[in-house]
Amino acid sequence: LKGKTITVVGSGLIGRSWAMVFLSGGYKVKIYDNKAGQASAAIAEIKKQLEELQQARMLRGNLSAAEQLSLLSSHDDLQQALEGAYFVQECVFEDLEAKQTVFQEVENLVKENVILSSSTSCLMPSNVFSGVKNQTRCIISHPVNPPYYVRLVELVPHPKTHETVMDFAYSLMTDVGQAPVRLRKEIDGFALNRVQYAIIAESWRLVQDGVISAKDIDLVMSEGLGMRYAFIGPIETMHLNAPEGIEDYLQRYSEGIKRVLTTFGPVPEFSGEAAARITKEISESIPGDQEHLTARRERRDQLLMGLAKLKK
Ligand code: NAD
Repeated sequence: LKGKTITVVGSGLIGRSWAMVFLSGGYKVKIYDNKAGQASAAIAEIKKQLEELQQARMLRGNLSAAEQLSLLSSHDDLQQALEGAYFVQECVFEDLEAKQTVFQEVENLVKENVILSSSTSCLMPSNVFSGVKNQTRCIISHPVNPPYYVRLVELVPHPKTHETVMDFAYSLMTDVGQAPVRLRKEIDGFALNRVQYAIIAESWRLVQDGVISAKDIDLVMSEGLGMRYAFIGPIETMHLNAPEGIEDYLQRYSEGIKRVLTTFGPVPEFSGEAAARITKEISESIPGDQEHLTARRERRDQLLMGLAKLKK
């Protein structure tokens, strides 16, 4: 696969990150954006980031920053950007019509065997690819922000996606050092956001109902559950948390889990008095202006970088 060409369509936050991930695996990457000058701006930004990562000894892959950059090009013309591509990763705005149009255009410009992959976070494959004639080659490869440090990629098939296309995407993601997982069928929110939304909902309800402060529920995750979830998931947690493994765990705890689960409240409105109160509390510790948010994002990425190192 090495030396093959991948086209990234859309050069915003996620398009740039995908480009860096593919470059680290030694792939040629062609970036296209429909906003003039955006793709070349992306190259300048990627160059800066790769050089910084090299300095910090955090550059991924076996190639130097300069070698990786030599594999990268930007294009304002879609046809030119797709020439020679064998995999297309779409990263345009999260807008159904925009994505449908992009995939129709792309399909008309590439050969039959080129894989069409979308980065969508929340749209269903059967909608994103509804205008594509050959849907067997379509797949969603949903990254987690920032993909350079958080390696999970959810592979979600269209109902017609060929198993070989899933296998192919799986090998590509593994080859570039990501951690792919397969969903066997499409479902709203995929797996990651379904679990994330369950956590958000219960955290919100606990703060809304005055059980705990916003600051403290965040600590429940960052100092408690999150500590082990960086290394083991909920099923392995069950297996390890009883002396004789998961069957023992179920015997001891399943009644209690069910009892607590029946006390969960309805889907929160995320508005009104509770929203005002939660917004006020978080804004007191982290003001919502760009300066503070950027500083916290940088801190997050630094910490994730350290964690990524530890996980290796
Ligand atoms: P973004 O706004 O940073 O970038 C979108 C880019 O697409 C812009 O550069 C824009 O000019 C370009 N674009 C728009 N229409 C286009 C078209 N027709 N052809 C070519 N380029 C076009 O957005 P983002 O955060 O990079 O998100 C991109 C996709 O990735 C979305 O589907 C989003 O849901 C998904 N995603 C985002 C995150 C995240 O945390 N930001 C995480 C996972 C997945």
